[in-house]
Amino acid sequence: MQYNVAQLLREPTGSTRSFLVERTFAGGPESPEGPQGEVRILRTHQGVLVNAEIQVEANLTCSRCLRGFPRSSSLHIEEEFLAAVDFSTGRSIDLPSDDEPIFIIDEDNVVDLSEALRQYVIADEPMKPLCQAECLGLCHVCGNDLNQGICKCDAGSMDPRWRALAGLLNTGSD
Ligand SMILES: [Zn+2]
Ligand SMILES: [Zn+2]
Repeated sequence: MQYNVAQLLREPTGSTRSFLVERTFAGGPESPEGPQGEVRILRTHQGVLVNAEIQVEANLTCSRCLRGFPRSSSLHIEEEFLAAVDFSTGRSIDLPSDDEPIFIIDEDNVVDLSEALRQYVIADEPMKPLCQAECLGLCHVCGNDLNQGICKCDAGSMDPRWRALAGLLNTGSD
């Protein structure tokens, strides 16, 4: 997701460009569908301000049943990209050198949203993804996916210390 802002940087502060993000950007294995949405880029004093509404689809793994499932979400990205080079003089600009990570417009006047999008996707992911709110998870004894049907293990009524042993006995008698 790269945008050349060379023309925009020649224009006065406040000028804008809008882009549609079509599904032409190939998604990686993490997001097979690829992102889509709208990007608005505003010329600021030091660079450009990017405002984007992006729909992404990611493949997550359910924390209970360990099955992969797709999850789509809508992200609002707002980041300022600072110019590394003064367009009129061609000289490099001193950028603020604090620890805050900053996004830079590269020497070719290209704004690359991929890294920003990656960070927003990670921040949006749930800590414990669930394929469905009422996912039943896996049986503690046999590992059966309880969403597919209840197994014969009576895991609920058994003392947890005996479960592992019961599991061994079950496999041994087969
Ligand atoms: Zn699940
Ligand atoms: Zn079971």
